[in-house]
Amino acid sequence: MQTQLADFIRDTPEGREADDILRKCVHCGFCTATCPSYQVLGDDLDSPRGRIYLIKRALEGAPVSEKTRLHLDRCLTCRACESTCPSGVRYGRLVDIGRALVEKRTRRPPWDRLRRAALSFGLPRTALFTAALRVGQLLGLAPRTSPAGAWPAARHARKMAVLRGCVQPALAPSINAAAARVLDRIGISLLEVPGASCCGALRFHLNQQEAGRDDMRALIDAWWPGVAGGEIEAIVATASGCGVTIKDYAHLLALDPGYRAKAERIAELARDLCEVIRPEDLPEGRGRGRIVFQSPCSLQHGQQIRGNVEALLERVGYELATVRDAHLCCGSAGTYSLLQPAIAGELRARKLAALQEDAPQAIATANIGCLAHLQAGTAAPVRHWIELLDEALA
Ligand code: SF4
Ligand code: SF4
Repeated sequence: MQTQLADFIRDTPEGREADDILRKCVHCGFCTATCPSYQVLGDDLDSPRGRIYLIKRALEGAPVSEKTRLHLDRCLTCRACESTCPSGVRYGRLVDIGRALVEKRTRRPPWDRLRRAALSFGLPRTALFTAALRVGQLLGLAPRTSPAGAWPAARHARKMAVLRGCVQPALAPSINAAAARVLDRIGISLLEVPGASCCGALRFHLNQQEAGRDDMRALIDAWWPGVAGGEIEAIVATASGCGVTIKDYAHLLALDPGYRAKAERIAELARDLCEVIRPEDLPEGRGRGRIVFQSPCSLQHGQQIRGNVEALLERVGYELATVRDAHLCCGSAGTYSLLQPAIAGELRARKLAALQEDAPQAIATANIGCLAHLQAGTAAPVRHWIELLDEALA
């Protein structure tokens, strides 16, 4: 695609990156077939191709409006389009650049600014979110939290740090504890480092990109002593949505001379939990029943990891049902389910119908956001896969 970026952005790092990406797009439209927002809304401007066109026009200096922002807001940033695109268009990078520009050039209505400010303030603060959740639970408005169970003492020479996350410690403390127990069995001690909470994705994707980078810098500061001292072999994310962000730190902090080198090191060490356990590390099991795995977009498209979790679950004896349209987003997408509830609800209904076609006894997933979103739409248990693995090994 030919481009003529406007003077205000052409010679900036964002302008050069956007130009490279735009020039790769041949407007073939293959990506529309796998775009969840296009499937629900049927408008080309709610497809990757349409959004690429809107971003191109904005970068070329055309006026942007609330309508431009609406179509970018409706994108789930699921990156299914990247997995489909035959030309290697890095849509996720482009939409970050486009959103930052459109956010600067338009003004959201007061109620939209207010709810975004509330989400941006409340969700990354674990203590505040935990207090709000407990009130919700007392009033019967939120599901109860399962106990975490024991966390093994750090007894192995091999050590890995795990991200605590922002909402996960309140919603499901059992996930990291289960990860610690499984890794302990295979000779790895998992450590939660104080202060290592939000990865920054939340505020970054609410279009408060600098605030998101502040969260990233704070997280790097929390991990750095252990990383610099060489005692931490890897940084493990049990939420694939956080893992995909941490793996991208080198890019996200590339223009920050104070953090660039540290960000590169942290990104090198980052692993999804399913990358640090191999099937052969686990005892073979059988007869644990039929389940289904919902692979989050941040795992299959963002991190391009496919089949790892399924292999681990099968190793310990679960039977995995196949999933129709497994590439499609469930509608969770960070705060998307709160900001675009109608589209998110439709995508969840479609996803749950696909997941439950073979009547599995449980739905497994790899991201706390997907877990909470799916669980709110079904009475069937939705669990993190590591909890099922932990139960099988116990
Ligand atoms: S992003 Fe890729 S698949 Fe979509 S229109 Fe452009 S070249 Fe085609
Ligand atoms: S990231 Fe997902 S929702 Fe957004 S354009 Fe790509 S496929 Fe569509």
